[in-house]
Amino acid sequence: MHFERNLLESRMSDAERASRVAAPVFGTVFTEHMATVRFTERKGWHSARIDPFGPIPMSPAASVLHYGQEIFEGLKVYRVPDGGMQLFRPEANARRFRASARRLAMPEVPEEIFLTALGELAGADRKWLPSAPGTSLYLRPFLIASEEFIGVRPAMEYLFGVIACPVGAAFAGGAAALTVLISDDYTRAAPGGTGTAKCGGNYAASMPAQTRAAAAGCDQVVFLDAAQHRYVEELGGMNIFFVFDDGTLVTPPLTGTILPGVTRDSVMTLAAADSHRVVERPYSVEEWRADAASGRLREVFACGTAAVITAIGTVRSAQGEFRVADGMAGPVTERLHSTLTDIQYGLLADAFSWTRRLP
Ligand SMILES: *Cc1c(COP(=O)(O)O)cnc(C)c1O
Repeated sequence: MHFERNLLESRMSDAERASRVAAPVFGTVFTEHMATVRFTERKGWHSARIDPFGPIPMSPAASVLHYGQEIFEGLKVYRVPDGGMQLFRPEANARRFRASARRLAMPEVPEEIFLTALGELAGADRKWLPSAPGTSLYLRPFLIASEEFIGVRPAMEYLFGVIACPVGAAFAGGAAALTVLISDDYTRAAPGGTGTAKCGGNYAASMPAQTRAAAAGCDQVVFLDAAQHRYVEELGGMNIFFVFDDGTLVTPPLTGTILPGVTRDSVMTLAAADSHRVVERPYSVEEWRADAASGRLREVFACGTAAVITAIGTVRSAQGEFRVADGMAGPVTERLHSTLTDIQYGLLADAFSWTRRLP
C-alpha cells in the first residue's frame, strides 16, 4: 500500500530533538509524525498517510469511546553498529495484531500494511532513533473503532495508526530486581475472555491492582488464574519465567488467558539453544514460596518488549513476603538479557533470522 506523505516542512532543530531524546520517561516523548490508515466496510483499507503527529478528530459517538473496541502492539526500532535501523520479529507482532482484531470483532490489518506503516514512520522520523546503548524507538501500532455509532455491534469504520516514542535503557544490569505484589483478588483475564488479545481493556482492568501495588511500594503485580487464584499467569504487561538449580526454566502455558509475548517466545528459543530445559506448565504460588525457601528456585524474571528482561527479587502477598535467592538479578537472567539485546542491536549473529533491516 502506498502511504501519502505529508511531512512537516520545518523540522525540530537537532539541539531541541537531542534534549527531548536525552532521558525520556517511557511513553512521554513522541516523534514528529504518525501513520494512519482508514477502514470502511465498503472501501476496505484506504487513505494510508504519514502526517505530523497531532490530534485525531473523531465523533464523540465513536464506538471506541463507549465500548472499547481497541487493540494495540508494541515493538522497537534498534540502531545497529553501521548506523542503520532494524526491527525484531515484526511479523510476529503483525500476526498477533490480527489475532487480537479477531477477538474483538475488528477487521484484520494485512501484514503488508502493518509492516509498511512501521517502515514509513521509522523512515520519516529516523532522526528520532537514539543511539546510546540500550535506547530505541518504541513503535505503538493501534486500531480503534471510529464509526459514529453507539449501538452495540462491531463497528463498520476503523482507524489504524502508528506513533513512535524514543525510549531510554530499561534495564541496568546487576541492579536491584523488581518487587512484585501477588494479586489474590483482582484477576487480569478469565477463560473465554480477552487475555490473549492485546487490548486496552485488559490494561484498564489491571489498574486498581497496579495502583495498590505502587501504594505498597511494589513495582508490578503478579496476576493469578481467575478460577482458583492459585496458579501464576503473568504481570500486567510482561510474561514470567522461573529458573531452577538444575538449569530448567518454567513458564506458565498459553492456555487462553496469557498474552503470548514475542519476548517470551524468543527467551524460550534462546534458552533451549543454550541447553536449558524449558517447560511450559502451571506453577502455583505455593510452589513458588516453597521452591524459594528450599533454594531450588534460583532466579525469576519478567519479560516483554518495553522492559526486555527484568529480574524479580522480592515477592509480597497477603501471606507475607519472601525473596528469590539473594533478591538480585542472577546469571541466567543476565545472560538471556544480553544475548537477546545483542541480537536486537545487531551485535550478535542473528541465528534465528529474527531481525528485519529497515531502509
Ligand atoms: C505486550 C504484553 C506482553 C509482552 O509481549 P511482548 O511481545 O514480549 O512485548 C506480556 N503481557 C501482556 C499482558 C502484554 O500486553
